[in-house]
Amino acid sequence: MYLTEVYVTNASLNVNRPFTYYSRQEIEKFCRVKVMFHKALNQAIVSDCVYTEKTPEEIGKELGYKVEEIAEVIDESPVISQELFDLAFWLSRTTISPLISCLNAMLPKALKTSIGHNDPKTVRKIRKINGEHTFTVKQKEVYDQIIDGMNAADARKISVSIIRKLIDMGAIEEYREESVFENQLIESAAFKKLTDEQQEAYDRLISTDKTVSMLYGVTGSGKTEVYLHLARHYLSLDKDVLILVPEISLTPQMIERVKQRFSDVVFYHSELSDQERYEQYKRVKNREVRIVVGTRSSIFLPFHDLGLIIIDEEHDSSYKQDNVPCYHVKNVAFKRAMYHKGKVLLASATPSLESYTRALKGDYQLLELKNRINLSFPKIEVVDLDDEIRKHHSYIISKKLEEELSLCLHNHKQAIILLNRRGYSPIIKCMDCGGVLMCQDCDTPLNYHKNQNVLKCHQCGRVYNLPERCPNCGSKNLLFYGFGTMKVEEELHKLFPQARIQRMDRDSVSRKGAHEKILKGFEKHETDILIGTQMIAKGLDYPDVTLVGILNADAGLMRQDYNSAKVTFDLLMQASGRSGRAKSTGKVIIQAFNTEHYVIKAVLNQDYRYFYNIEMNYRNKTSYPPYAHIVEVILSDHMPERMQRSVKFLYERFEKLDMRVYKPYELGKLKKLYRYRILIMDKDLLEMLKKTQEIIDDYIRESNMSHVKIDVDPLYLE
Ligand code: ADP
Ligand code: ZN
Ligand code: ZN
Repeated sequence: MYLTEVYVTNASLNVNRPFTYYSRQEIEKFCRVKVMFHKALNQAIVSDCVYTEKTPEEIGKELGYKVEEIAEVIDESPVISQELFDLAFWLSRTTISPLISCLNAMLPKALKTSIGHNDPKTVRKIRKINGEHTFTVKQKEVYDQIIDGMNAADARKISVSIIRKLIDMGAIEEYREESVFENQLIESAAFKKLTDEQQEAYDRLISTDKTVSMLYGVTGSGKTEVYLHLARHYLSLDKDVLILVPEISLTPQMIERVKQRFSDVVFYHSELSDQERYEQYKRVKNREVRIVVGTRSSIFLPFHDLGLIIIDEEHDSSYKQDNVPCYHVKNVAFKRAMYHKGKVLLASATPSLESYTRALKGDYQLLELKNRINLSFPKIEVVDLDDEIRKHHSYIISKKLEEELSLCLHNHKQAIILLNRRGYSPIIKCMDCGGVLMCQDCDTPLNYHKNQNVLKCHQCGRVYNLPERCPNCGSKNLLFYGFGTMKVEEELHKLFPQARIQRMDRDSVSRKGAHEKILKGFEKHETDILIGTQMIAKGLDYPDVTLVGILNADAGLMRQDYNSAKVTFDLLMQASGRSGRAKSTGKVIIQAFNTEHYVIKAVLNQDYRYFYNIEMNYRNKTSYPPYAHIVEVILSDHMPERMQRSVKFLYERFEKLDMRVYKPYELGKLKKLYRYRILIMDKDLLEMLKKTQEIIDDYIRESNMSHVKIDVDPLYLE
């Protein structure tokens, strides 16, 4: 018989080890099976299977417990390769999360282990059966039209009755096959000739010995064109190529651009259905397609020979997963590139502090694109909102922005208005008792959504009816504070009744395909003004956009977070980069209260290095990343007493470490759960991981403790 080690589907850390079962036949490594676990049938994945002469009873005696038999084998062949299994193992160690959750993060739903079942979709096909058949004339006619592998539905279109007859005769048969993706061809486009700067970056990437290169290129400098040329080169060497993009940047325009050059490309992102993802996964696995453009999880696709991984907008926070396993795509990319002896290109107009520092130190090769393709930078102006208020102007759309908008519309150009807050009004305050309307499940103020006349919690999504009176004191004197994209939309309609205005934010793109529709309309110039949240700041490349307005540009700086200056800087730089990308020079109007802030100044001068130097100085003084690594431990529970016990247990152990450990900090309630955070910071990441793992191992041995989540190097602190 065979001794079989399996990892059981279970999200908790305390079953993060293989369990032993036996089977009568050999099972291939990495196939899924069903096993009895804690008295229930559970899916698991086989990590090892070895022959033994011993009986189950003998083994049970040795191990000290009864060894059970594998209940059922699910797969005929492994769902994952050795490379990816090892990667999952490494991921589990470096993110301190269960191996099974890493495996499941890597696989499309049809191949994940689960409690339920998720069989991939199949289609009915027809094929001929060899042998002597005698046909009537009609039957022969139909038989000759049958092509092996054609869809049964298509065959029946020739003649339902004759097909049935042919099946009865044993001349043809029906079978089922997993449905496959059918690529739609579009008209192709030629590669653009690279500029000297682009060519230099291209040449240096191809010839370097370094695994990682950093392409620091200003917005509109033609980074995408460099990616496409590089992709062509690596494909010609018969290598696989992966271009990673932030979720929001996978626009119809981007998809079209890549498809025009390579005709068949795998696009892998969250808008795909589970079935579509599975089909695309198989196309990579079977090497039908060697170029993939995708978001974070495409880093786990089963590539054969990965020559190049490009990470576009490498600073983007969507590359970090914020649920378990909290991995950063960059680390996984380095790991995979090492295995495949491939290269990684990190690219950005506002590189992460860490990557840029490594590039300056020479760990990465630094490549630069200093010029825009059109050789013209947008003209930037800052409007002081305190001034506007003093002059009794609107602080939503300032006088200056109003003038520029009207000029832009007059010239039949397009404008983008960015406000990183959706909804109508973010705060509803009682003028009598001063109370703010809050979500009952989270410690978060409720947002007013005027179109539905409801209040929404932007943390948990809970919707409330708009009360007539203050729930605290009964006063009718409720005031709506602040403004979101919906209110701006309303203001713009009032100011420019003729203009065609569209809003793009999480509310307006919640329906599938809405995102695409809004952008297509804007591309065709059916929209004059596009207003939106950070969704519209990235990647858009439309020649008629000559004006960008950024409202409440400094709002993000109020956040008490070590990274908020960088995040705000990135957003403002990206947004201003949308203006004047073609023939006409662009304009950017930045509205802010804190106009003297170094972030605003750096954006005004489009000066990344200026920002970098000030920010690094501050990070150095406070020993924040990139001068240290962070481990964030988050506890959540609906029972406050158990939470206190868990916090105490962990803090007592962390406190003893020779590292910077912050006192437990109570976070706002979220979805009815109380939450606490413990922060650990140190330069030595490996040591931190080791110590944290030990403490967590102790913790999970205790029974009845709070749920714990570990986030290594979070981009935001909770
Ligand atoms: P980035 O990603 O750096 O912001 P893009 O790759 O979107 O910039 O390029 C900006 C614009 O310049 C696009 O419209 C692109 O088609 C065009 N472009 C890029 N490279 C070239 C080139 N070598 N010759 C002509 N046009 C180019
Ligand atoms: Zn009140
Ligand atoms: Zn809520």
